[in-house]
Amino acid sequence: MVQGHCGLCPSGCAVQITIQGGRIGRVVPRRNVTGYRDGAKRRPDAMSCARVGRAADIVHSPDRLLFPLKRAGARGENKFERIGWDEALDAIAAGLHDTARRHGPQAACMYTGRGTFERSLWEMLSPAGVRETSAWSLLFPFGSPNSTGAGSNCYVSHAVLAPAVTFGVWGAEMFPDVENSRLIVVWGTNPANASPPLLMRQIEKALQRGAKVVVIDHRRTETARRTGAQWLAIRPGTDGALALSMIHVLIEEGIHDREFAEHWTEGFDELRAYSAGFPPEKAEEMTGVPAGAIREVARAIAGPGGAKSAGYVGAALLSYTGLEYTNSGVQNIRAVMTLWALSGNLDTPGGNLIKMPDTDFKVNPGRRLEPPAGVDPIGKSAYPLYHLYRKEAHATELPRAILHNEPYPVRALVVWGASIITGYPNPGLWRRAFSALDFFLVVDRFPTEDSRYADIILPAATSFEEDSYLISGRRVEFRRKVIEPVGESRSDWDIVAAIAGRLGYGQLFPRSAREMLRWAFEGTEVDLQELEKTGEVSLAVSPMRYRKWESGLLRKDGRPGFETPSGKFEIASRILKENGYEPLPMYTPPREGPTSAPALAMDFPLVFNSGSRNKAFFNSQHHNIARLADQRPNPLAWLNPRDALPRGIASGDAVEVVTPRGHVRFEAFVTEDIVPGAVEVDASGGGPLGPSSWREANANELTDSENRDPLSGFPVYKALLCDVRKIS
Ligand code: SF4
Repeated sequence: MVQGHCGLCPSGCAVQITIQGGRIGRVVPRRNVTGYRDGAKRRPDAMSCARVGRAADIVHSPDRLLFPLKRAGARGENKFERIGWDEALDAIAAGLHDTARRHGPQAACMYTGRGTFERSLWEMLSPAGVRETSAWSLLFPFGSPNSTGAGSNCYVSHAVLAPAVTFGVWGAEMFPDVENSRLIVVWGTNPANASPPLLMRQIEKALQRGAKVVVIDHRRTETARRTGAQWLAIRPGTDGALALSMIHVLIEEGIHDREFAEHWTEGFDELRAYSAGFPPEKAEEMTGVPAGAIREVARAIAGPGGAKSAGYVGAALLSYTGLEYTNSGVQNIRAVMTLWALSGNLDTPGGNLIKMPDTDFKVNPGRRLEPPAGVDPIGKSAYPLYHLYRKEAHATELPRAILHNEPYPVRALVVWGASIITGYPNPGLWRRAFSALDFFLVVDRFPTEDSRYADIILPAATSFEEDSYLISGRRVEFRRKVIEPVGESRSDWDIVAAIAGRLGYGQLFPRSAREMLRWAFEGTEVDLQELEKTGEVSLAVSPMRYRKWESGLLRKDGRPGFETPSGKFEIASRILKENGYEPLPMYTPPREGPTSAPALAMDFPLVFNSGSRNKAFFNSQHHNIARLADQRPNPLAWLNPRDALPRGIASGDAVEVVTPRGHVRFEAFVTEDIVPGAVEVDASGGGPLGPSSWREANANELTDSENRDPLSGFPVYKALLCDVRKIS
């Protein structure tokens, strides 16, 4: 039995692992002092989730990639033969150099996803000067600025673009003060499904001390059911209208934080005028949320007496990807963030707190590399804001570059720990693009739908098989590998080192996981030898101070205000304006929705949603693990009885969900827990492994690669039109 960390998702929960004959056996949440089964306390990060008990099934799955593979058939035919590492690395260097000779080094592109959970890769390999993490720099010295990744369709709208252009703070620099909230509003997220469900545990504790929970979602989620929350059943894609209506209520009733609005915002008067167009009765027509509930929840968010009253206890907002995937995703999120600030819940006890500047330990960023100058990455002109904060290419523009040479050819691709065909709209487009490549390398732990098209596949190890570190606030831990890499797989860091070495610039990257650790901690407060010896170092944290804009804690120059061009909370964002976007958080109805496309809605009368998470799987991973797939044997399509009955559909029926782009088979789940008129389908199907029902259900056959949020470039995975038909 060893004390270790789970390596199945980025959380790295503390676990105890039984090792049997060099293999992982049983994995359970780590004990604290005595056995947790006896009622002793667990470590706070000793969470459990559906996957942790299946770690051995995953790590030692017969589907694991164990050796380097070389394509042995036509591209896409999925025929490969085993080769050695030397031959594979020679082929990679030859493929990339050949592409550079013919089209220039920028014709090589790299995409990184969440198939590797090793956070040090992002922390060490992000471009220099990026405040958070971004895509990897491995091809920068080769001469290509084209590094991109899962930020092109996840997280960045919510945690980077919306807060950065509005008040100069990143999502990772904030947290909801659930432990002290009087009201917890869960808007477009489902903490009960999170990995790990840490916030759900906090919400349930808050309930015990009398906090109230409101869930705003088109589904009554598990979070809503378990907490007995007030459910505002909203029509998909209309969240911005609801937020603006609540802002209107605050201003109309004079219950907003007037001092904040007057002294610390830019654009408040324009917002007042604009939000007047969203009275609750009109918003009810748009969102489906009753006007009375809009007023009631707006008043509850503002709280009795307001933010400046003595002993004010705030309302916490929990929000995530639910708001990202519509045509006005970034603006909807900005509207909600503005609602929080104007209601006095920004950086207030019980509200949404901005961390103290030293709250999170940061590894040494000094070894990060700059992207090469002289050529812009693809997607920069289409999504300048995304590039401004990420310094990376935008993946949605890749097919255009591969198939149409726009803005220039991309002919070589490296996909590392990702599944683009299941993750992005229009799988057929991606298949055509992958088929047109001159060279394609996939690095992963399991075969993916993308790897079917690869020239070379390299087998990577899991986080159980590699030494590294874990950071949680100011606590830094040494994560020891608990088994040797399975088969001939290598750690991600060893693969980075091998490729960089073969390309002739190995000295610019750590040459092993050990060197990575040295680079990560050099010049920091953490001594690596000490960390390795003790396993854990906890550094002091400054005591929390609230409303930091008043005391100069948010600006680099130490002056009061926000780190924005005006120094204010920019309801009307100057950065948006400078980049050609609407500065106010204006609401745009879904482009393919019942009001914007009424003729299409005659044939496709329901509103399609996808992209929500599933407890058993991590996105498209783990469908092949029988004891996880058993928890969701078939991909589901949720629909309300009011929509199911006229179509003769009952729970368990085979149905096909149809959009103007295609049709996909699901199992019907008829429930009152989804608003009438909406359909929610399970995403992440369409991979090469697991039950056939999942392999055949790629929800992205139904989405549209050209329908995106113009600010973030994120595809619209929610709020499209569809219909559902029973399969007889
Ligand atoms: S949430 Fe589950 S899968 Fe993720 S690290 Fe924790 S135990 Fe592992």
